[in-house]
Amino acid sequence: MPIVSAQNLSFSYELRDEEGNVAEHIDALKGVNLDILAGSFVTILGANGSGKSTFAKQLNALLVPTGGTVFVDGMNTADESHLLDVRKTAGMVFQNPDNQMIASNVEEEIAFGPENLGVEPDDIWRRVDMALAAVGMNAYRKTSPNKLSGGQKQRIAIAGIVAMEPKCIVLDEPTAMLDPGGRREVIRTLHELNEKRHVTIILITHYMEEVVDADYCFVMHQGELVMSGTPREIFSDVETMRRLSLDVPQVTEVAYELQQAGVPLPDGILTSEELTKALTAVRDGGDPAAAVEGCRRAK
Ligand code: ADP
Ligand code: MG
Repeated sequence: MPIVSAQNLSFSYELRDEEGNVAEHIDALKGVNLDILAGSFVTILGANGSGKSTFAKQLNALLVPTGGTVFVDGMNTADESHLLDVRKTAGMVFQNPDNQMIASNVEEEIAFGPENLGVEPDDIWRRVDMALAAVGMNAYRKTSPNKLSGGQKQRIAIAGIVAMEPKCIVLDEPTAMLDPGGRREVIRTLHELNEKRHVTIILITHYMEEVVDADYCFVMHQGELVMSGTPREIFSDVETMRRLSLDVPQVTEVAYELQQAGVPLPDGILTSEELTKALTAVRDGGDPAAAVEGCRRAK
């Protein structure tokens, strides 16, 4: 069973005039069908305004569909009797960690989530320990959150969600405010949570480099799901990505330009290692596709 299943999901925002009458509808999601497998690491891409945040908010019932259905771990998010269970299953992390911090030190900050869920005190501290370890922030448990770097704050925000032991974490551009070092910290933490604790990760991002290592990728455009596939499948289609005003990873772009210029490179090169192997093969009169394939198998 998928952990998330959106079936013909539509959502419209209602804009009201001064009298409170509906003046306008904005169709933010239009008939989206997708399944996300439990334990997978998926990313959602799309230009500004394509509906990514609106979609994310459906997954813990901050918003409920105006058409179609969303199931989270088999629960219909529109069924109010499931609200708490849906929120326990799918935790949300937002862009700006500052807006998410309220406690005077890190461990209290992390304890806040499970406390709110009514978890027993002994179990709360077990969860805080577990969550601190999971994000590699043990040494900072007594530190005030406002003394932390952006990347560290975001890892604490993630730990706060981890302490609620969700099956799934939805992150809406969690690295947008961070420097490259902070971004790497956060993404590494997410991959560890996914690999070691089998938490499903749903990551909305603008950074193509953060997509490369995902299991699967969805692309939104004007409220519709327009592409889905492995990162390699998505990035193989440079033309479509450009048409959707989306970037591809720099290495993929370079490989594409070389290909256009007549260098016989295979589609969907994702790493500099693959590009190097392929170019070496071209230089030595070998088979570049086989060289890239060898690179992938070695992983
Ligand atoms: P993204 O996260 O991909 O940038 P959003 O889900 O935020 O996209 O927005 C999708 C569409 O819904 C956009 O047209 C946006 O202007 C509109 N929208 C988003 N939030 C609101 C809101 N609270 N009220 C009205 N319209 C909104
Ligand atoms: Mg958004």
